[in-house]
Amino acid sequence: MTDKYVLKIEGLNKIFSGFEALKNISLRVKKGEIVGLLGPNGAGKTTTIKIITGLLKADHGEVSLFGNKTSSAVEAEIKAKIGVVFEESNLYLRLSALDNLKLFANINGVKLNRVKTLLKEYELYEVRDKQVKNFSKGMKKRLMICRALLAEPELLIFDEATGGLDPISAEIIREKLLNLKKQGKTVLLSTHYLEEADRLCDKIAFVNNGRVIAFNTPNSFKDKISKNFLELQFSLQKDKISLDKLKIKLNRFIKNNESFKIDKRRFSILLFIDQYVFKRADQLCRDYQFMEVNREEANLQRVFKEINS
Ligand code: ATP
Repeated sequence: MTDKYVLKIEGLNKIFSGFEALKNISLRVKKGEIVGLLGPNGAGKTTTIKIITGLLKADHGEVSLFGNKTSSAVEAEIKAKIGVVFEESNLYLRLSALDNLKLFANINGVKLNRVKTLLKEYELYEVRDKQVKNFSKGMKKRLMICRALLAEPELLIFDEATGGLDPISAEIIREKLLNLKKQGKTVLLSTHYLEEADRLCDKIAFVNNGRVIAFNTPNSFKDKISKNFLELQFSLQKDKISLDKLKIKLNRFIKNNESFKIDKRRFSILLFIDQYVFKRADQLCRDYQFMEVNREEANLQRVFKEINS
C-alpha cells in the first residue's frame, strides 16, 4: 500500500554542542501539497531540511520519505525522487549554464533533451553558453532549480526559494513553484516571507526556536484570527487633534495584539472581541467621529504576532 504522505517527520531533535536547535519537530506533507516552513532567522528551518535530505543526522526522531524510513544516509533510490534547491549556490561559477546542467545530467543519466527543455522553460536558453559567474542572483536561482529538476523528482525542497531576490525575480520563481504544483509535484519550502507562504502554500508550519508552534492552512489561521477582532473606523478632523497626540492616545488604548492605522482623513482600530469590546467601542465613539465597523480581513502578519505572543 502506498503512503499518502510523501514526507513524514516525527519528533526531530538536533543538538549542536549543547545548543538544542530542533526540539521535537513533527510534520506531514501529502502528495501534491506545497508546505511552507515559515520562521525567523535561526528558527531551525535549514537544519530540518538538512536532516530530511540526509546532510545532517538527527539526535532523535524519524524521517520517512515516500513511505520509507530513512537513516542518516538517504538511499540512492529515494534520493533520485528528491530535488533540493539550497540557499547558497551549488553551481560551478566558471562553467556555462549549459555545461553545469550537462555535468549533473551525466552524473544522473539524464538526456541532453531534458537539459534543453529546462533551460527554455526557465528562460535561460539564450544565455546557456555564458559563464554562471556573470549571472544575476535570479538567474542563478533559476539554474539551481533546473539542476534540481533534471531527474524529474517527485518532491522538491527549497531552502529560501526567493531569499535575496528582487521582487520581479522572486515573482518568477513563485510562478514556477505554482506550476510545479500543477504538475503534481510535492513541494517543501522554507521562507521568511509571510505573504509568500500565504500565496503559495497549502499548509504552513510556523517554526520558532526549533519548534513547530502551529501547522495549518493559511485560511484557517486567518479565519481564527479574523473572528476574534472587530475593526472600527473613525473620521479624522485634523484641526481637533494632532496626529502625534492621537497616536499616543491610541497606543494607550490598545491591548496586546490589537493595533491601529492612521491615514490622512481617518483611522482604524482593531479591538479584540471579548466582554469589554462594546464598552470600549462606545468609549471611542464618544471621542471620535464613528464611520463604520468591519470584520477584520486578517493577514498572516497578525497570525504570526498572535502565535508568537
Ligand atoms: P535562516 O532563516 O537564518 O536560514 P534557519 O531557520 O534556517 O535560519 P538554522 O540554520 O536551521 O535556522 O539554525 C537553527 C539554529 O541552529 C541556529 O541558532 C543556528 O545558529 C544553529 N546551527 C545551525 N547549524 C549549526 C552548526 N553546524 N553548528 C552550530 N550551530 C548551528
